[in-house]
Amino acid sequence: MPERKLDAEAPSRSTSNPKPAPPQVAPRARVQAMKEYHPPLGSRDALRLDFNENTLACSPKVREVLGSISAGDLTRYPEREPIEAIVAAHLDLAPEQVALTNGVDEAIHVLFETFLESGDELLLPVPTYTMYEVYASATDAKIVTVQSAADLQFPFERLLASVTAQTKVIAIANPNSPSGSIATRAQLLQLARVAPHAILLVDEAYFHFYGETVIDLVGQISNLIVARTFSKAYGLAGLRLGLLAGSVDLMRWIRRVLSPYSVNSLALACLPPALDDSAYLEWYVNDVRAARTEFEAILDQEKIRRWPSHANFVLVDIGPKHAEFVQHMRAAGVLVRDRSSDPGCDGCVRITIGTRQQMRQAATALRQTIAVLQAGSKSE
Ligand code: PMP
Repeated sequence: MPERKLDAEAPSRSTSNPKPAPPQVAPRARVQAMKEYHPPLGSRDALRLDFNENTLACSPKVREVLGSISAGDLTRYPEREPIEAIVAAHLDLAPEQVALTNGVDEAIHVLFETFLESGDELLLPVPTYTMYEVYASATDAKIVTVQSAADLQFPFERLLASVTAQTKVIAIANPNSPSGSIATRAQLLQLARVAPHAILLVDEAYFHFYGETVIDLVGQISNLIVARTFSKAYGLAGLRLGLLAGSVDLMRWIRRVLSPYSVNSLALACLPPALDDSAYLEWYVNDVRAARTEFEAILDQEKIRRWPSHANFVLVDIGPKHAEFVQHMRAAGVLVRDRSSDPGCDGCVRITIGTRQQMRQAATALRQTIAVLQAGSKSE
């Protein structure tokens, strides 16, 4: 390749570091059509009620293990199989039925890459978790969304009616985000039965705050795949740890696409102590559930419309001042998430539920914010 000539007219700063012309290599048409997605992850030194994480800490037993990892340990590639076997035993499953992933996000990505191709349909009740659409839009499949009614309940009947011969994956977050609503076990079973030619993905990211699961049906229902994360109740969002559980046949295909290296050795080392410390998990989950009840009562007192939630967050209807609400809450030290651009969520904000103590701080910020917004409305 001939060397590029430096432009003699260009100022010296740029000649010392010439910028190459942007390469004319186009990504796939599907990728060009994708929307950019930038969740607001910056400047979060405040009470974090914006991403549905654990708002406090992981188990102290996990911290101990992290502290014991040596520099030599880090020189090795991670070995996932022994830890997969431990997790599988914890879930009463066979090791071949479980694959650890770099968060549920990688699980969704790999699942869609494994199964979705041109002519296929992904069936998606909305509003729901954003990354299903992000990853599906990078495949050649068609995304078929089914809008929930104003109550944001699971649109079961319309979802059933939308199953076609082309349906290849049905993705259901249970509990769902941002609504906090649930699909019942009977509804999930019926969907799996009506669409035996499709994967039914049940994403149980918020399982611990709800308490009901279909993971016991893995293997019995051949087209069921369940996802779990360690980002929420376990408090390990920064380690990026999730899993997929499904029949051995399905998992074999998924493992062809999944990187054997994608779960790092720190995450693997932390998994057994996280699973072992059930007392810590139970304490955190019970505190959050109690905080949810208290905080919902405060929302009702303040006459803020809300949707019933089975997870560690609650969706509230703030109305046209949703952006100001989020801004005032931030000024009062509490981060919450504007969901008003989610389908059917005009004016809505999602508030993560933390511990009871944290939610008392959040309630104070909420009352102040409502007072400021109401005073603003009167003077308008
Ligand atoms: N599924 C749902 C329903 C979620 O809300 C989230 C996180 N917000 C995830 C999956 C992602 O989990 P992870 O951190 O394991 O990628």
